[in-house]
Amino acid sequence: MRHVIIIGSGPAGYTAAIYAARANLAPLVIASSVEFGGELMKTTEVENFPGFPEGIMGPDLMTRMQQQAERFGAEIVYDDVVSLELDGPVKAVTLGNGDRHEAHAVIYATGSAYRKLGLPDEDRLSGYGVSWCATCDGAFFRQKTVAVIGGGDSAMEEATFLTRFVDKVYLIHRSESFRASAAMLDRAKADEKIEFVMNTRVEQIFGTDLVSGIGLVDTVTGEQRTLDVQGVFVAIGADPRTHLVHGVLELTEQGTIAVDGRSSRTSLPGVFAAGDVVDPTYKQAITAAGSGTVAALDAQHYLETVHDASRAAATAV
Ligand code: NDP
Repeated sequence: MRHVIIIGSGPAGYTAAIYAARANLAPLVIASSVEFGGELMKTTEVENFPGFPEGIMGPDLMTRMQQQAERFGAEIVYDDVVSLELDGPVKAVTLGNGDRHEAHAVIYATGSAYRKLGLPDEDRLSGYGVSWCATCDGAFFRQKTVAVIGGGDSAMEEATFLTRFVDKVYLIHRSESFRASAAMLDRAKADEKIEFVMNTRVEQIFGTDLVSGIGLVDTVTGEQRTLDVQGVFVAIGADPRTHLVHGVLELTEQGTIAVDGRSSRTSLPGVFAAGDVVDPTYKQAITAAGSGTVAALDAQHYLETVHDASRAAATAV
C-alpha cells in the first residue's frame, strides 16, 4: 500500500509530488493518458513563472517539474483514473488499464478545463493565435488586433488586460445581457481600445499556421461577416474537473471541491485537493503550485496522525 496517491500532473500535482517525495512518501502520480502536464502543455512561452527570467515554454516547465518529482522518488503512471474509493481509511484508485492502487491518502489535483467554443480549427490553432489565457499569452499580441469571446467577468478581465499590449480588442458576445459584474463591464466599456460586438456568435476561426480571422454570425439577423484578427481569446468559463468525485466530496456553489479554510482538507479524511479544482478565482500555474505544496504538507501531517494512531493501537494490544 502507498502512503499517498496524487491524481493530476499539472503544477499542483507535480508540486505536491515534489514535496511528498522529499518527505520520503514515495508518491504515485496518476498523470493522465492524454492530458499529462495539464493546461501548460497547451501554452507556448510562460513568462510569469518565477525563476525563469528569459521565459520558458509551457511543456518544458512541466517536464522540469516532472523530472524534479521523479528525482526524489515520485513514480508516475500515464493513465486515467476511472473510479475512486475514498471514504474508508484505505483509498483505492482504479485506472483505465484495470490496475488498482491503494493508499492512506489521496491528493486530488485534476485542474479545470476551459470551456471551448467547439469550432473545427480551435484545437489546431491553440497556441498559434487561439488562447484561453490573456495573462499567459497577451504579451505575444503587441500592436495586433484580437477578439475576446464571452460576456462574463473573465471576458471583461481578459479584454481589459489585453489592451496593455494590443491595438484593438473586439469583445464578441453571443447575447445582449452580460454575466459580468457592473464594475468590470463599465471598465471594459470605458476603454476605447475595446469594441463590443453584441448578439454575435463565432462560427469559424481562419488561419493556416496562425490565426488570421474569424467568421461571425449575427444571432438576431443571421447576417454573416468576417473580421481580421490575429488572436482569439476564448473566455466563456471553465469547469473544475470533479466528475470522479460528484456525490463523494463536498463541492462549493461554484462547483470546485470544498476545502477547510486555507487548507487542502476536503470533506473526507485523508483526501486533499489542490490547484484549479479548488480555485475558482486565480487559476495561475504559480498559485496551483503553492496549493500543491499545501496539499502535500497536509497529507504529510495526516499520515503522521494515522501512523501514530496505528502505533498506539499496536502498543495497546
Ligand atoms: P461565466 O459563466 O460568468 O460567463 C461565461 C460567459 O461566456 C457568458 O457570458 C456566456 O454567455 C458565455 N458563453 C458560455 N458558453 C458560450 C459559448 N459556447 N459560446 C459563446 N459564449 C459562451 O464565466 P466567467 O469565466 O466569466 O466567470 C466565472 C466566475 O469567475 C464568475 O463567478 C466570475 O464572477 C468569476 N470571475 C471573477 C473575476 C474577478 O472578480 N476578477 C475574473 C474572472 C472571473 P451567456 O451569458 O449568453 O450564457
